[in-house]
Amino acid sequence: MISGSECREIAKKLRYAANYGLGGLSLQRNLAEITKAEGVSWRWVMRRLADLIDRPTCRNVYDETEMGACENGFECSECGNRVEDLEHCCITGTFNYCPKCGREVVS
Ligand SMILES: [Zn+2]
Repeated sequence: MISGSECREIAKKLRYAANYGLGGLSLQRNLAEITKAEGVSWRWVMRRLADLIDRPTCRNVYDETEMGACENGFECSECGNRVEDLEHCCITGTFNYCPKCGREVVS
């Protein structure tokens, strides 16, 4: 998985290239280098761009019917991170992203 800090670093380099030029290299070569694509062919560049744009997702698989479960808890389907109230009370708010792995929560 591509981390948020890696994405920000790539975006920073893209903005730099946009302001200061391609350094005599083609756009494709620049994109391959900046995004750290596996290869310099246009296919690798396309794949890498798709991976960068398509952010990973997870689902909330928290089981409220489990013994001792709280209301509106969260369990990440991918990393297993659980957020719950140990007093078995209701948690308020919305889980748009897993607080541990950062994946976007989709239903
Ligand atoms: Zn997670």
